[in-house]
Amino acid sequence: MASKSPAAPTVASVAKSIFPKLGLSLKAANPGAFWGEWGGAGEILEKRSPIDGSLLGRVKQAAPGDYDRAVAAAQKAFLVWRDLPAPKRGEVIRCYGNALRDLKTELGQLVSLEAGKILAEGEGEVQEMIDICDYAVGLSRQLFGLTIASERPGHHMRETWHPLGVVGIISAFNFPVAVWAWNSALAAVCGDSTIWKPSEKTPLTAIACIKIAEKVCRECGVDPAIFALVIGDGPAIGELMTSDRRVPLISATGSTRMGKRVGEVVAKRFGRSLLELGGNNAIIVAPSADLKLAKRAILFGAVGTAGQRCTTTRRIIVHESIKDELVESLVTAYRQLPIGSPLKSGTLVGPLIDAMSLQGMMSAIAEAKKSGGKVLVGGERFTAKGLGEGYYVAPCIIEAKNDWPVVQHETFAPILYVMTYRDFAEALEMQNDVPQGLSSAIFTTDLREAEQFLSSRGSDCGIANVNIGTSGAEIGGAFGGEKETGGGRESGSDSWRAYMRRQTVTVNYSNALPLAQGIKFGD
Ligand code: NAD
Repeated sequence: MASKSPAAPTVASVAKSIFPKLGLSLKAANPGAFWGEWGGAGEILEKRSPIDGSLLGRVKQAAPGDYDRAVAAAQKAFLVWRDLPAPKRGEVIRCYGNALRDLKTELGQLVSLEAGKILAEGEGEVQEMIDICDYAVGLSRQLFGLTIASERPGHHMRETWHPLGVVGIISAFNFPVAVWAWNSALAAVCGDSTIWKPSEKTPLTAIACIKIAEKVCRECGVDPAIFALVIGDGPAIGELMTSDRRVPLISATGSTRMGKRVGEVVAKRFGRSLLELGGNNAIIVAPSADLKLAKRAILFGAVGTAGQRCTTTRRIIVHESIKDELVESLVTAYRQLPIGSPLKSGTLVGPLIDAMSLQGMMSAIAEAKKSGGKVLVGGERFTAKGLGEGYYVAPCIIEAKNDWPVVQHETFAPILYVMTYRDFAEALEMQNDVPQGLSSAIFTTDLREAEQFLSSRGSDCGIANVNIGTSGAEIGGAFGGEKETGGGRESGSDSWRAYMRRQTVTVNYSNALPLAQGIKFGD
């Protein structure tokens, strides 16, 4: 299974070449809190690379006092930042995007070292940051509201959008840099400052991003505390943030379990939350589908990022007449998948993030088998020379039923459940019959099926694709999903509105004071 091309560079050699360029220390503990200055009085976090389990770096996490300092600095910076005209704020983001262009390779490699993504995906993630910066620069000249006809003579109404304040960003390990950029670039042009609590599984990429942002801010003459950082775990630092009234919006990306807790804590203080949670994404493959396209899309969707994307394809709902043909070609492709170090060119499947993740995959497979599932390929741990303590697996396909509890649940690993349907209505019902509602796709050349899938009776997900897989969204559209995926939208379209407060304004330029609804009150 592992390819026989030249040996992969080691984690240590790549780290040695990129750490200095990214402002990271190999030996000393890296400060994990930023409020315009670097600090961190919390415990030391040892970050091991999922590639081989070797020590990648150490981070001094934020203590509660550091959190307070960071949020106070972000608040203070906000008061100045919000007064800067939006296109000027856009200029700062333009410079940030350019700084990312200069360091795209290095930051992409760090994503690989820390999150275990193959190099192409690591760099792709940085490209996504650059894209959202470009988008935000344009947006900085288009933060528009409405003018509304007033029912009263001599009056006009309009809707304006104002900066909100300090935005709290909580991010997941699997998109360690892009999710922050999605949030912070938009929040910044909207006039907000941000405080970021990254996943404790990916602290070094977070420090690298903020170092780049700090340099850009200083060069632009802007207080870098608009991009504050606090590294720490959910209960210790995350909860300080979610319960903090100084943070009007919490944008949280992660599991449904985390989102339930965050949603509850934020709602208790009448804060706003933007939740981007787990998915359970399906592809319907209809009899008229171009099976070559479908197979490629399924492969990328199901095994890319080792099944650790929120949009990973987890279910295939295939028409019974073409099931054997599709499954056979998928099984053949799965047997040839190059698994191994993500630093090696040609690798398509890197490691899972940690031991817990491996355990989650193994228990899901055992549960599926217990329910009567048939493993068609893969599912075992993969080991090879040079992979050390990395948690690698052979991606797996299981014949299953949609209503089994294990299929209804998101297992964050490369398990693909295959099920069949007879008529189209049944396929749609199965597609929607899960608690999550993130991404969905159909492969068909039948216009009626495609349009039904996209209609109000069709897919109930935030993302619905025709002849494209479930993962790999572009930044121009609003990203997010329904039901237990949390309902939030980030990135393109009008997602920026979540980062601003709306104000309805009525101006009376007459000499009279007519009341709305024609109400007469006194004279
Ligand atoms: P996770 O839920 O374990 O952690 C996500 C973040 O939440 C981390 O920063 C963590 O420290 C923090 N957190 C945990 N408990 C908290 C609490 N009580 N208060 C505040 N913060 C808390 O998720 P993960 O394992 O890092 O990431 C994988 C999950 O994220 C998957 O479910 C995946 O589908 C989801 N995800 C969703 C999207 C999306 O856009 N919908 C994108 C990426 C990942």
